[in-house]
Amino acid sequence: MSRSIVAGSRVEPSGELGGVPVPGPDEDAFTLSVAAIDRLPWPVAGFPVRQVQPFGPFPPALAGDLGEALGRPGIDVRPARPLPELGAGLISLLDDPTEEGGVALVLPTSVPQGAPVPPRISEAIALGFARGPGVRLRGSSLPAGGADGARIDDLVQELRGHSSARRAASDPRPAPAGRDVEVDGGMAWSETRTPVGGRFQWESPAAYSQGSSADPWLVSEGAYLPWPTYLAHRSGRWRLAAAECGACGARFFPWRGSCPNCGRSDRLERRELSRSGLEVEATTVVHPGAQPSEFDLQAGSSGSYEVVVARADPHIRVTLQLTGASPGSVRIGDRVDAVLRRLFPLEGAWRYGLKAIPAAPMAGTTA
Ligand SMILES: [Zn+2]
Repeated sequence: MSRSIVAGSRVEPSGELGGVPVPGPDEDAFTLSVAAIDRLPWPVAGFPVRQVQPFGPFPPALAGDLGEALGRPGIDVRPARPLPELGAGLISLLDDPTEEGGVALVLPTSVPQGAPVPPRISEAIALGFARGPGVRLRGSSLPAGGADGARIDDLVQELRGHSSARRAASDPRPAPAGRDVEVDGGMAWSETRTPVGGRFQWESPAAYSQGSSADPWLVSEGAYLPWPTYLAHRSGRWRLAAAECGACGARFFPWRGSCPNCGRSDRLERRELSRSGLEVEATTVVHPGAQPSEFDLQAGSSGSYEVVVARADPHIRVTLQLTGASPGSVRIGDRVDAVLRRLFPLEGAWRYGLKAIPAAPMAGTTA
């Protein structure tokens, strides 16, 4: 049986310039890719994602980090293809007999209106494919011969129309004649909500151009780590994975080589904690001059920033920098989500880590 698209997700960056979505100060192709793939509502728990095929400006240097950021180490990330190949590329992925399942990652770009800056990612789309019923592509008029944002949007609209929320797998309707898809089952689809605190507004194309290359918004989950330590611990930090000691039951984060309670190192197991709805237990605003040295550039360019202490587990609290909201806007008892964002450039590479964003209000509650 050939493969079908069985799930999709779409994430918009949190920044805006001239009415066009663009990455916010601490977002880039890597963080948006992780966000989109991570939101795929897999129909089967533990679905084996063996490959990721990016289309668009996915950074090659970070291919090896993608699996770590997704909690799926060893995932095969193929070299990114240009967007004009999207239609034929998707069809070849679905026809590939060698892989059971995977993800097509699409990173369309746009040029903000009136902005003398290179094209920036305007959204990240992840399409999960697997053997079995779902949505298949014919490709008669899929994007080809040019990075045509409108046609990519048409494809997304078409796929979204076949989401399982609107069309049960048990009631597949034939696609209209002449369209690009064939349907013999439903697909799950998710979209990110509008940022709770509103979009980050870039003041000008110049500020945006500067900020997205030599980014002055240098923010961090924690203190400086030597590069080897950062590499060794990135997966646990990015996934909020605690260590649980099988000898005494203690849980701790981040990972250390031995249990801080009983000292044993032979019974440690990884436990991923939820990154949603962490309760804020303390907050502090760091004013310029009080920051650790790795935040010097950030403090110098954007002033004060807020750090929250949030409870991730009955035994574990984490310290996260707040993003996507003004300093002072989060209060004790509020809920935050932990998201992967860019931290600061160091030793020739960007460091990434978790930050806190205000969680969406729960249904039925008032602010
Ligand atoms: Zn222990």
